[in-house]
Amino acid sequence: MKKHNYSAGPCILPQEVFEKSAKAILNFNNSDLSILEISHRSKDFVAVMEEARALVLELLGLEGKGYQALFLQGGASLEFLMVPYNLMKTDGKAAYLDTGTWANNAIKEAKHFGETVVVASSKDQNYNYIPTEYTIPTDASYFHCTSNNTIFGTQMKSFPQTNVPIVCDMSSDIFSRTLDFSQFDLIYAGAQKNMGPAGTTLVVVKEEILGKSGRTIPSMLDYEKHIKAESMYNTPAVFPVYASLLTLQWLKNLGGISAIEKINQAKAELLYNEIDRNSLFIGTAAVEDRSTMNATFLLVNPEHQETFDKMWKEAGISGLAGHRSVGGYRASMYNALPLESVQVLVDVMQKLEEVFSVQSQLAE
Ligand SMILES: *Cc1c(COP(=O)(O)O)cnc(C)c1O
Repeated sequence: MKKHNYSAGPCILPQEVFEKSAKAILNFNNSDLSILEISHRSKDFVAVMEEARALVLELLGLEGKGYQALFLQGGASLEFLMVPYNLMKTDGKAAYLDTGTWANNAIKEAKHFGETVVVASSKDQNYNYIPTEYTIPTDASYFHCTSNNTIFGTQMKSFPQTNVPIVCDMSSDIFSRTLDFSQFDLIYAGAQKNMGPAGTTLVVVKEEILGKSGRTIPSMLDYEKHIKAESMYNTPAVFPVYASLLTLQWLKNLGGISAIEKINQAKAELLYNEIDRNSLFIGTAAVEDRSTMNATFLLVNPEHQETFDKMWKEAGISGLAGHRSVGGYRASMYNALPLESVQVLVDVMQKLEEVFSVQSQLAE
C-alpha cells in the first residue's frame, strides 16, 4: 500500500501524475517514443513547455499582466545568485528578510554582488517566528523574502507594502494558497516541494524589472535570454517540466488555488488542533506564523520517542523526522497529501496519548 508521505521535498505528488508520467516514459502521446528520448524541440514537447508556462500564469492570476514564466535548472539555490545578478544595480544594494536557513543562503549569495541589507532576522529565537517590524530602504534594488520556511515551519501571512520590487522564494508554498501574486515582481520555486519532481525551477518574473542592473550577465544566468528563448535557451529538464505540467493540470481540474487552499487549511487545522490538544506534543513555531505546509512539533517528553516512531511507521507514515536544526518532527502537508493521511497521523498521536495515560495510571 502507498505510504502516507510527509517528506519535505522531493515530496508527494498526485497519484494521477505518477501514473501519467509512467505512461509517458513508455509511450508519450501515442508517439511510440518515450518522453525520455524525444527532442526538446519536437512539436509535442514544445507544446508541453508552452502549456506549462501559460498554466502557471493562469493559476497565479498573472495572465496579461507583463509576467513571464520560465522553467530553469539549478534549483532554487541557483536563483539565490541569479536574482542579484539580474536585479541588483552595480552600485546598488538589496534588502533581505532573514527568516531561516534558505533566506540565509540567499543572503550569502547576494553578498557576492553588492551591499546586502538584512532588514530583520528571527535568528534570535531559532527562526520560530516572522519579524514584522522593519523598514525597507527605498533605494534598494529589490526586497527579498521567503514566503514559507520549510525547515522551521513558519509562513508569511502578509507581505510589506513597498515601492521596491519584491522578490519571493516560494519554493515550499507556491500554488498552495490564494495571494495577490501581482504584488511580487519575481517569484521562484524549486519544483520539488509542491509542483513536480526535482530538476526544474519555476521563475515568474515581471519583465519590466529586467535589464536595469547595469551588469553584463552570462547567458545562462540572464533571465532576458531565457525569456527570449521561450525557456529553451538550452535543453530544458524535459521530464520534470512534463510532470510539473501534469501537476498543474491536476490543480486546475480540482478548481485551482482557491480549491486546494481550502483542503490545505483543513489539513493544517486538523493537525495543529491535535498538537495543541494533546499533552504529549508541543508546536515549535509561533502560532500566528504557523505554516500550513510544514508543521514542526516536538514530543514534550523525549522518552516517548521510540514508541511514537514505531507507531507512526507501523501506520504507514513516511518522512516525519524533523530537520536537524529543529529536531522533533515535521509534517509536510503539500498540495497532494490527502486529508486522510493527516487523519492517520492524528489517530497515531491520540493512540500514543492513550498508551502513556494507561501506563501512568498503572504506575499510580
Ligand atoms: C528546498 C528549498 C530551497 C532549496 O531548493 P533547491 O531546489 O534544492 O535549490 C530554497 N528555498 C526554500 C524555501 C526551500 O524550501
